[in-house]
Amino acid sequence: MKFYASIFFLYAFLALSTTAVKVDYTGHMVIRVFPETKEQINFLAEWESTSSVDFWSRSSTIERFTDLRVNPESYNDVAKILLDNKLNHKILIANLGELERQEQQEIALRRALYNGNKAIDVENYHTYEEVMAYLADLANTNPLVTTMVAGASVEGRDIVQATISSDLAANKPIAWFDCNIHAREWITAATCIWIIDTITTGYGSDPEITALVDQYDWKFVPIANPDGYAFSWTNDRLWRKNRAVNPGSICMGVDLNRNFPVGFGGTGSSNGPCSETFHGAAAFSEPESNTLKNLIAADQGRVKTAISMHSYSQLWLSSYSYTSALPSDYTTMLRAMRAGVDAITATYGTVYNYGSTGTVLYIASGVSTDHYYVNEGVLHSYTIELRDTGLYGFELPPRLIVPTATETWNGIKAFMNAI
Ligand SMILES: [Zn+2]
Repeated sequence: MKFYASIFFLYAFLALSTTAVKVDYTGHMVIRVFPETKEQINFLAEWESTSSVDFWSRSSTIERFTDLRVNPESYNDVAKILLDNKLNHKILIANLGELERQEQQEIALRRALYNGNKAIDVENYHTYEEVMAYLADLANTNPLVTTMVAGASVEGRDIVQATISSDLAANKPIAWFDCNIHAREWITAATCIWIIDTITTGYGSDPEITALVDQYDWKFVPIANPDGYAFSWTNDRLWRKNRAVNPGSICMGVDLNRNFPVGFGGTGSSNGPCSETFHGAAAFSEPESNTLKNLIAADQGRVKTAISMHSYSQLWLSSYSYTSALPSDYTTMLRAMRAGVDAITATYGTVYNYGSTGTVLYIASGVSTDHYYVNEGVLHSYTIELRDTGLYGFELPPRLIVPTATETWNGIKAFMNAI
């Protein structure tokens, strides 16, 4: 009996120890670096693509800072490397683990207090399964909404597109959104879900929403990277890539937003599987990016705008991303972006910058929006980098979902009315 009991406990112990242990970010910092010369900017770019240092944002010009996540053990080494390159830095977030605990507490508190009648509280963060349940419920209960499984992730999760249409047979022009292609950018799925909820509840009563739905079909992929998103809940809050196994490497994941063909493998992407910007074996090597490609291609000629939602930085960005050269449609793009950004800022005063990715943010090759613009002919193809500018970074507290989504939706409405 005693023998069996100890076998039981041994199994229980093994089961516990092999289940996911969540990455503990206690003591991890985010530091902000201020480059002052072109050489320092080049050094940071080189450092990003050749190391596994987690860059949260990167400078393209001397006006823009670079944010890095640093673990407590390597802080002294990183500080020395920066000093050797005459780079100044300050600590932006002192303890990411504490920030994550606060976020989880707020999520749990909101869950406990929620007494609405929807499948989920659209003012809170939710797991992949909860979001899928919400979309299924919406499709069952709201005649405007249909969902389709557009593809499957590496680990076999559904990649779902939700369509809001008052007349599917009319083949209207489309406003299309991919959200949460980067796993840790939770505010992006939350914003897309809040907008879906706002459109579906406002149709028929809000004149502006009614007009926009009568004019366009609205399509959303609320979680474009399901495996990475699920992993960011269970194992690693700050996971960015998908969950592909990279042959010959212990590091997993491809940066899906470097896995598109325009400029594939170029500046601002890495060929190292351990890099956060690893571009993968080839353009569209990953099922998740391939699914987005197919969705846009299936609606060819109808996509009026395709917007990729990211965080953080408060930017509205156009092509090109893979080069600092400007597209021939840039004047039209600038006018449209300006309409969006002005309406965002008019809401709560949130400051946004706008312009081409390659000039305003940094050069990044193989990104979704360049593909939508260059290969699919979607002129109004943009990346929106939502709140904030680094105070919380990727761990924007749930209480900021509604303000973020509200201003973003105001921006999108004004932009749609301007194009
Ligand atoms: Zn992103």
